Amino acid sequence: MRYAIISDIHSNLEALQAVLKTIEQEKIDKIVCLGDIVGYGPNPNECLDLVKRSCEIILTGNHDFACIENSELFYFNQYAKQAIEWTLTELSREKLNYLSNLKLDAKIENYYLVHSSPYDPRSWDYILSLDEAIFNFSKFNENICFIGHSHHPIIYIEYLENNILKYNLKVVNKLQLDENERYIINVGSVGQPRDGNPNAAFAIIDSSNQVYELKRVNYDINKTYQKMISVDLPQFLADRLLMGR
Ligand code: ZN
Repeated sequence: MRYAIISDIHSNLEALQAVLKTIEQEKIDKIVCLGDIVGYGPNPNECLDLVKRSCEIILTGNHDFACIENSELFYFNQYAKQAIEWTLTELSREKLNYLSNLKLDAKIENYYLVHSSPYDPRSWDYILSLDEAIFNFSKFNENICFIGHSHHPIIYIEYLENNILKYNLKVVNKLQLDENERYIINVGSVGQPRDGNPNAAFAIIDSSNQVYELKRVNYDINKTYQKMISVDLPQFLADRLLMGR
């Protein structure tokens, strides 16, 4: 089975369409979405419709969750909060209802899927360091955990050396996964990359040979940028798309 794993679309329709086009060419069997479909960008309705139509499994992210749970906005910075408030003026009751029914985590084959962290999916903790990854390796049973949330693609590895558990991290676009090792893999962001590369990111995992691949796809960033400015979303959020920061 070939899976495409997409995350953090953030209402960026142009990025999502470009990613889905690439996925079509990659002969993918199933698409999985790790959440944050909305927030930040200008096309929440269109992105929700497209994700609903394309993905087999769809999880909730903190931005999706904040649309239905207002108290969550307390943890958001002013730009993220402003974007959610704008998003709420766009989404129908039916769409909000749909968001409220998304799950926090899921399992497919030997993969554990969650937006933020295995430790407590609902607390929206970030895994930003090897120490945070080490803590989280004991919080799921599967060999491989796929996450999003930070918008930074990275692979954390747990392996045995002389019967002692060791840990490592890698930032690579392709990796042959080893059945004797465990992994926490951040698949990056479709709609708001922050690793210095403005191109949309998503991942492919082939369960027949366990080859992992991170894909980068360019899209019409200027179109998304102009839409954001025209609906008065924060300039800061539009600017960061151009830089991938
Ligand atoms: Zn996000």
